[in-house]
Amino acid sequence: MKEKSKILYVEDDPSSEILVRRVLESEGFQVVTASNGLSAIETARNELPDMILMDINISGLDGYEVTTRLRTIDKLKQIPIVAVTAATLSGDRERALTAGCTGYIPKPIDVDRFPEQVIAFLTGTTEEIESAEEKAEYLREYSHRLVDRLEEKIRALEENNIELQRLDRMKTDFIIIAGHELRTPLTTIYGYAQILQTNPELPGSSENPGSPRFLVEKMTEAVWRLNQVVGDILNVSLIDANKLDLSKGPVFLNSLIQQAVEDVNAIGGDRQLIFTLEGLDDLPMVLGDSKRLYQAFWNLITNAVKYTPDGGHITIKGRRIEDAIQIAVQDTGIGIDPEDLDHIFDRFYILHDTALHRSSKTAFKGGGLGVGLAVARGIIEGHGGRIWVESEGHDEEQLPGSIFHILLPIGEL
Ligand code: ADP
Repeated sequence: MKEKSKILYVEDDPSSEILVRRVLESEGFQVVTASNGLSAIETARNELPDMILMDINISGLDGYEVTTRLRTIDKLKQIPIVAVTAATLSGDRERALTAGCTGYIPKPIDVDRFPEQVIAFLTGTTEEIESAEEKAEYLREYSHRLVDRLEEKIRALEENNIELQRLDRMKTDFIIIAGHELRTPLTTIYGYAQILQTNPELPGSSENPGSPRFLVEKMTEAVWRLNQVVGDILNVSLIDANKLDLSKGPVFLNSLIQQAVEDVNAIGGDRQLIFTLEGLDDLPMVLGDSKRLYQAFWNLITNAVKYTPDGGHITIKGRRIEDAIQIAVQDTGIGIDPEDLDHIFDRFYILHDTALHRSSKTAFKGGGLGVGLAVARGIIEGHGGRIWVESEGHDEEQLPGSIFHILLPIGEL
């Protein structure tokens, strides 16, 4: 036996754990513990103990199941695993041996004899079920028991899953209702703010901070932004709930994209970005929801603006491929890491540090809610199309850029 053997004791009852630990430590053993099935497997793998003492009635996977699992791990195949458990049912010893245990020590332990028993198992003692018939019978019983437990666990998982889906639906419905409720007064406030703003008698000017005109303009801007945020949340929830209604008609993508570029530029301030539109003039009309498609392109274009430093290029190209139209929105910005490419279309997926969040649609690296691409994907997929992205990686010095592709079926007009 080694100088200081390491023993893993798997036990969920703290007082038994303390007792066994004291007895073993006073005999010079090193003791590590685990209190449930999964952590026992994890600890055994990491610690590679010389021996495992296994309580059978632990939560999660029980001691039999943990033993069977440990026997499939190469480095743990040969070590002694001894069941230490209260003998409540006849056949417990045989069950433990069938599951893969080397031996069995009944609880409560006999403190005087316990170290001797442990040393015996550590130095090669093994117990066996003598009769082959009995062995086969216990094996059959054990495999039935495993299947029963598996069925029970799957049932519990399915029930939990149904409950989680119900809660998720409730949450989405709540957000949709709250979004609609917020939208109505916001639209009214925005309308009144615009009336005020266009009133020529409103004193002051945009350049004069503190003047009524300046204040009304700022207020209008803020309400517009709030409306956008509520709209984003509402859209992502409608997409989640599969309730995004599309009212389709003929759409000229050329004018829709030009309008979006103009609108982004109008609020973009002086970012000195160069926009190039190529091949859009010749595109045929598509059947789609122009408001929603505008939103999808708006989201892509504002992202291209947000993630490209001042003076960069944004190129939007269109071409027809059989019965579909492919649009590419390419920027010369900071790019996206390969491991993030599949996730950026998930809702609330934000790559940058949210502590540095700047709520702007157009400032360089201005933050958003992380729903813009989820909404764009929902809209494009709602039209039977596809959206994906290419980028060679994220690099704020080299600026590899990104290309977002959209494939949109032309549809029967
Ligand atoms: P956000 O509201 O944060 O912009 P989005 O859903 O629009 O959320 O985008 C998700 C994430 O994808 C962004 O946080 C950003 O890190 C990354 N991303 C989107 N577009 C680009 C782009 N053109 N260049 C680089 N990164 C981008």
